[in-house]
Amino acid sequence: MADVAYHEPETLERALALLGATEGARCIAGGQTLVAMLNARLVEPAALVSLARIPGLGRIAGEADGTLRIGATATHAVVAESAAIARDFPLIAETARLIAHPPIRAFGTIGGAVAHGDPASDYPAALVASDAVIEIASLEGRRNVPAAAFFVDYLTTALDPGEIVSAVIVPHPPAGARGHFLKFSRVDGDYATLSVAAMLAVRNGTCAHIAVALGAAGPVPVRDREAERALIGKPPTREAIAALAEALAAKSDPVDDVRGSSAYRKGLIPGLVARALAAIAN
Ligand SMILES: Cc1cc2nc3c(=O)[nH]c(=O)nc-3n(C[C@H](O)[C@H](O)[C@H](O)COP(=O)(O)OP(=O)(O)OC[C@H]3O[C@@H](n4cnc5c(N)ncnc54)[C@H](O)[C@@H]3O)c2cc1C
Repeated sequence: MADVAYHEPETLERALALLGATEGARCIAGGQTLVAMLNARLVEPAALVSLARIPGLGRIAGEADGTLRIGATATHAVVAESAAIARDFPLIAETARLIAHPPIRAFGTIGGAVAHGDPASDYPAALVASDAVIEIASLEGRRNVPAAAFFVDYLTTALDPGEIVSAVIVPHPPAGARGHFLKFSRVDGDYATLSVAAMLAVRNGTCAHIAVALGAAGPVPVRDREAERALIGKPPTREAIAALAEALAAKSDPVDDVRGSSAYRKGLIPGLVARALAAIAN
């Protein structure tokens, strides 16, 4: 590999300028995935632009309207350990807690995790179930893309060359809604064989809000809004939840790999969806 220029800008604007200045330049955040890809020569960037020294880029803030803004370089460990996130956004906190193991969580960032767009990773399904928005910075300004539109295909996102994920914005859960992230993996700390991110609000015995997204079940998180709408105003009975899980399974297209065959992953969907929702309801 030829010599690669390495930059450590101290502002986001400078990082964007450096990315734009060299074709094939890439940003590096926690390096947990990118360094392994460099070692394996899967990518050969012309330059590396580190986001690690940009003050405030990892800031976590609760906004006046109840929204949570997680800066791109916030590590999984910081998100997992935030008492405020655990209290108001338990789905996000639980997800961060289940990513890999402590050394990875200490360096891996939310911006890197979403920008990489790996369907086996944990944040994408949690962000889709939370109706989160990805804030993207470029030399032209900022744009916001709903998480459901951000994840486009396997390792492919809505990011254009030269753009940087600057934050993840999570709306406050709807009134009475609680979330849960259920990860099924071969061993503790592994990527998911299948994951379920669920949000549920039950009022007067009927569903007031429901959102369920599957991870590792296809090239992007799998969610079925029509099947969710069919449950609104109805009791979350075993049969109703089975119907939602069946709709999700029909939309899923998991890979065959060392973590499980496609058929095995599909077979996990009904039980895991039921368990995730039961954990919230009980
Ligand atoms: C052994 C191991 C186990 C893991 N297990 C899990 C797991 O169980 N669950 C899980 O969810 N994840 C897992 N991961 C991935 C981990 O969560 C990383 O945090 C994540 O892959 C990338 O974050 P990073 O900050 O290290 O990004 P980097 O490795 O620095 O970058 C990854 C990619 O994103 C780009 N990038 C980084 N930041 C930005 C940004 N702000 N804007 C635009 N592009 C950006 C880089 O150019 C690169 O292409 C695992 C990783 C390893 C090495």
